[in-house]
Amino acid sequence: MATNNKYDIAIVGAGLAGLSLSILLAREGYEVLVLEKEKFPFHRVCGEYISFESWNFLEELGVPLSDWNLPAIKELLVSAPGGNFVEHSLPLGGFGISRHKLDDYLAGLATQAGVHLLEETKADDIRFANGHFFIAGSAAGKQNIPFGAEASVAVGAFGKRSNIDLKWERRFAQKKPNKLNNYIGVKYHVRSNQPPNQIALHNFESGYCGISRIEDEKYCLCYLTTAEILGRCNNSVHQMEAIVLQRNPHLKKIFTESEFLFESPLTIAQISFDKKELVENHVLMVGDAAGMITPLCGNGMSMALHASKIAFEKINAFLQGNIDRVEMESTYRHHWSRLFERRLQTGRLVQTFFGKKWLTNTFIQSLKPFPGLVDKLIRKTHGAPF
Ligand SMILES: Cc1cc2nc3c(=O)[nH]c(=O)nc-3n(C[C@H](O)[C@H](O)[C@H](O)COP(=O)(O)OP(=O)(O)OC[C@H]3O[C@@H](n4cnc5c(N)ncnc54)[C@H](O)[C@@H]3O)c2cc1C
Repeated sequence: MATNNKYDIAIVGAGLAGLSLSILLAREGYEVLVLEKEKFPFHRVCGEYISFESWNFLEELGVPLSDWNLPAIKELLVSAPGGNFVEHSLPLGGFGISRHKLDDYLAGLATQAGVHLLEETKADDIRFANGHFFIAGSAAGKQNIPFGAEASVAVGAFGKRSNIDLKWERRFAQKKPNKLNNYIGVKYHVRSNQPPNQIALHNFESGYCGISRIEDEKYCLCYLTTAEILGRCNNSVHQMEAIVLQRNPHLKKIFTESEFLFESPLTIAQISFDKKELVENHVLMVGDAAGMITPLCGNGMSMALHASKIAFEKINAFLQGNIDRVEMESTYRHHWSRLFERRLQTGRLVQTFFGKKWLTNTFIQSLKPFPGLVDKLIRKTHGAPF
């Protein structure tokens, strides 16, 4: 492996976690390398509803959210597979923006800050020896030109599931399919006449589908379901939508009355909500690589952004010589767990109430007379502005 490039920090993955961390570090004067296997701008499977807790942080990074006339989302509607529903005001609320727009803007800010952002470059391994990391991969998309770099600190920001998770045989990636790890996600952008300030979460057998507004009067329509239910529909997304999702009358209306703006659905598979290690082979994990909250909580993006802020503090203290590597890793673990562990647990618990017809119905019926309980659940899966 050629190691001609030396950096203070190497980050694998340019999603929200990797990009925001890289900007903070580069602005502090460090040499930062970010590897991203895709090319910006691109779409990702995500509901694209961001809790307001991230607003200030994104603006401080330089994202001009206030100038973009983004929809504010203040109301929540949850429906059961049969159509019965409950509505509730969101305590903090959020806003809608596509990942296509947000991630591309952050990538531009990173480059402006001096980050060495290498697109279409995939890391195959990160190894630690003698106090340094060696990152090996291949560059320039399909031409597979070998790539090597060296860094004092390495960060895994490679999202839900990556080739590195498999290479390292991370525990969550080794598990047999179970009720927390065999999900698929599907996303579209649509034009629709749904209420502009509401996020709706419509349940169906073995899954739920969210719809909320993003920029330019478009809506993001995104759902999570199991690989098993897709298999039962001959692995056809359209068949599954017709015979499973559209049994919910709200979804039938959305699917039949909306204008679909993508030529084909965007999909991902093998999503896992299992617990993950926060530091692996001395690499600090941020964002979904550290742990994924169930999407019905609508808070994964804020967690990814917030985690990058705490990773920045620890890495900066280490590179300044104020703490050693052991302390950097242990304080990161401790801080991360204190902030997010209970949210993840509540998310997993709430997830178990969704997808089964009678259970979702009972859940929604029992929430209706107790709006305080809905508030409590939302607060337990969200944090404060950071
Ligand atoms: C169906 C669904 C709906 C969701 N809806 C919402 C929502 O409405 N609101 C919300 O807040 N959260 C939502 N989330 C969660 C949210 O999308 C994630 O929490 C968030 O994207 C995490 O950001 P990240 O930076 O950790 O990962 P990502 O954004 O996934 O970025 C990881 C990056 O790493 C790159 N990468 C991976 N491996 C390599 C490699 N070996 N070399 C180079 N690059 C690599 C990938 O290409 C990718 O760009 C949803 C998730 C799902 C699945």
